[in-house]
Amino acid sequence: MSNSVVVCTWEPGRAGVPAGAEETLTVARKLATAAGLELNWLIAGPAPERALEIAGKYGVAHLDRIEDAKLSDFQADVCVDALAQYSTQHAPKLMLMPQTFNARLVAPRLAARAGAGVVMNALKLDIEGGAVKVTTSAYGGDTRVVYEITGAESCVVGVLADLLLAEAPEGGASAPAVRPVPVDLSAITERVRVVKKAHFEGPRLEEAQVIVAGGMGLGQKDNYRLIEDLAQTLGGMAAASRPLVDNGWVDSSRQVGLTGKITRPTLYIAAGISGASQHMAGCAAAKTIVAINKDPDAAIFRYARYGIVGDCVVVLPELTRAVKGAA
Ligand SMILES: Cc1cc2nc3c(=O)[nH]c(=O)nc-3n(C[C@H](O)[C@H](O)[C@H](O)COP(=O)(O)OP(=O)(O)OC[C@H]3O[C@@H](n4cnc5c(N)ncnc54)[C@H](O)[C@@H]3O)c2cc1C
Repeated sequence: MSNSVVVCTWEPGRAGVPAGAEETLTVARKLATAAGLELNWLIAGPAPERALEIAGKYGVAHLDRIEDAKLSDFQADVCVDALAQYSTQHAPKLMLMPQTFNARLVAPRLAARAGAGVVMNALKLDIEGGAVKVTTSAYGGDTRVVYEITGAESCVVGVLADLLLAEAPEGGASAPAVRPVPVDLSAITERVRVVKKAHFEGPRLEEAQVIVAGGMGLGQKDNYRLIEDLAQTLGGMAAASRPLVDNGWVDSSRQVGLTGKITRPTLYIAAGISGASQHMAGCAAAKTIVAINKDPDAAIFRYARYGIVGDCVVVLPELTRAVKGAA
């Protein structure tokens, strides 16, 4: 078993960098520094242009590269096999991956192949007395659970990168060594065929800088236009809590929260939203939260920088008028 922690990614994201790579490198680097482990980054398939720069920023020792034509598009069987061959060659103590949809397909199967433990939903990793402890989110975000990894020499961990912040260490960047990883994927035939891919066009809540979100405090479906009016006036996007989606008032693409979109806007205005942990999981990282709620004890005020105690059906149009007047 080598003394390394490796971050595994395989899909270039929208900005070229795999989604969650920097957040996972942040967690991995902290652990590696605290435990005296070597930090490596494994990229299976095409590498993003900025891979070397990012790896250097996070103090990665080796940028491990698996290149194979079969990895140009995600295929679960191929990806699992490539990572399993890497694991055999380098025997890392920990293999961390940003918990994307595809990582959920890969992590458990990779762990089974590598004879490793597996923990998903990780928010934090520590090493205490040589034992790896993984703090995870459980029961819809209401509870934190700490797993101690025993009985396996290595572990595969899915990191909830959407809920974490990327934080590069202070100080100068060092250039990592690029290490080609030879694998043989010729015998692997993908058993799963994707028959339809839905492509969503247009702006994404995850990237919006200003979001106005409505909750059950709106009282009725028609009042959601008050959310849309303010969002449009501010040049932002309209969003909603889950019950509005469940009621069919709003499309599910607008849902913020644990089972919806994880957002990080500069400004998040929450109107008639109670502040349940499952909702806050999708917006707590906003720079400024403004809450409008008629209940002064509503949980949302614990997260809000600015709070308006009042009826959102009255306050929202007033805010829209004020913004229009100020423009
Ligand atoms: C596994 C799981 C996953 C979940 N995932 C999500 C998720 O992704 N996203 C999500 O949002 N929820 C999620 N939920 C649901 C979540 O627990 C809450 O039930 C939900 O967020 C509540 O929505 P709400 O705040 O709009 O409604 P409510 O809880 O009904 O709160 C309404 C709020 O509006 C206030 N109010 C009432 N009238 C007015 C008025 N006229 N003016 C101003 N304020 C008013 C009330 O004081 C109250 O605070 C999940 C739950 C589970 C169990």
